Amino acid sequence: MTHTPRTISILGATGSIGSSTLDLVRRNPQDWRVRALTANGNVEALAKLAREFSAEIAVVADETCLPALRDALAGSGIEAAGGASALVEAAARGADMTIAAIVGCAGLAPTMAAIEQGGLIGLANKEALVSAGPIMTAAVAKHGATLLPVDSEHNAIFQCLQGNKASHVRAITLTASGGPFREWSQAQLEAATPAQAVKHPNWSMGAKISVDSATMFNKGLELIEAHYLFPVGLEKLRIVVHPQSVVHSMVEYRDGSTLAQLGPSDMRVPIASVLAWPERMETPCGPLDLAAIGELTFRAPDEERFPATRLAREAAQAGGAIPAVLNAANEVAVDAFLRGHIGFTRIAADVAHVLESYAPPPPGSLDDVLAVDAEARRRAQGLMPCT
Ligand code: NAD
Ligand code: MG
Repeated sequence: MTHTPRTISILGATGSIGSSTLDLVRRNPQDWRVRALTANGNVEALAKLAREFSAEIAVVADETCLPALRDALAGSGIEAAGGASALVEAAARGADMTIAAIVGCAGLAPTMAAIEQGGLIGLANKEALVSAGPIMTAAVAKHGATLLPVDSEHNAIFQCLQGNKASHVRAITLTASGGPFREWSQAQLEAATPAQAVKHPNWSMGAKISVDSATMFNKGLELIEAHYLFPVGLEKLRIVVHPQSVVHSMVEYRDGSTLAQLGPSDMRVPIASVLAWPERMETPCGPLDLAAIGELTFRAPDEERFPATRLAREAAQAGGAIPAVLNAANEVAVDAFLRGHIGFTRIAADVAHVLESYAPPPPGSLDDVLAVDAEARRRAQGLMPCT
């Protein structure tokens, strides 16, 4: 069987999701032609990938890194570009498949530019959807794009919804590992360090999402992400702590049947299901050995120690700009925590504080969302100790 390779662009190619995606592309070179690869400022890693995959263009978001990128790509014939607008322009070239794997709201504008070209969008960048939910989903519909969730829980839900009617859904349950501090007391949480927070028991991920996992803001953001991806009603979305991370999420139907998707804790599984959709492809991920795993356990989340899921549910309920405010405040607080400027429990406290002080009207455009994001960041930054 002959087939034409499809074009793929990876926004955030040097990150954890970007690397896992490129690992699958590397194993199936005949299937893909790499168009754009982007990074924030890691020139060396980006240039190496661009050369390995013969990308058309490599882009650094940090414009000051462009001269170094040009040098690193000299003689390769690969275009080099830098800066926020270059990132958007590269995404706007479109591709059969764009993997949105930038971390944070920084990925929103390029993801929207890719959506406006139609095509398939593999969405890992949950902060973009959380910030711009209704605007992004409207753009997807308007431009005939297809949003395929990469996030393991949403990928699981997407798979469990196939062949069923959304109107028959009784509940959607997102599973949460509970993060590295699942069993920690409030006193221990107060003293948690960045090094402890980024050490996730089950998954290997970028620093920001690892901290989000420890605070449970990751699950909070995912609740809002699910609300926009699967609009069955917020009251039908649930969260259950499942420390083994084997069941990636579940959909319960009105007849009492619950469908779940299970698999190893390896992001290449959901990424592969996106890359091959609606088909299936081989991956190097091992089979699921339930006898070796032995036990799967489940329990309700503790919103006293981890208020993030409650804050996120309230933000989703409020809708409009409020999820963008929550997301921006969290990004600033996580950054401050990682730099050692604030303690672990201050993250949720500061997010709550910004949410109390700032309730802008619903955004009508991408620019409105970016303005809300900027103002919420400014307010969150104002809470940080002077350094
Ligand atoms: P990461 O930190 O490993 O990688 C982030 C990528 O984005 C890098 O390529 C980096 O260069 C780029 N980047 C960072 N800041 C940027 C900026 N300001 N402008 C442009 N590019 C920038 O992060 P990750 O763990 O790969 O996560 C990426 C996204 O996927 C996040 O939204 C995360 O929540 C989501 N996600 C990740 C995982 C996982 O297992 N890592 C699972 C589910 C969802
Ligand atoms: Mg997830």
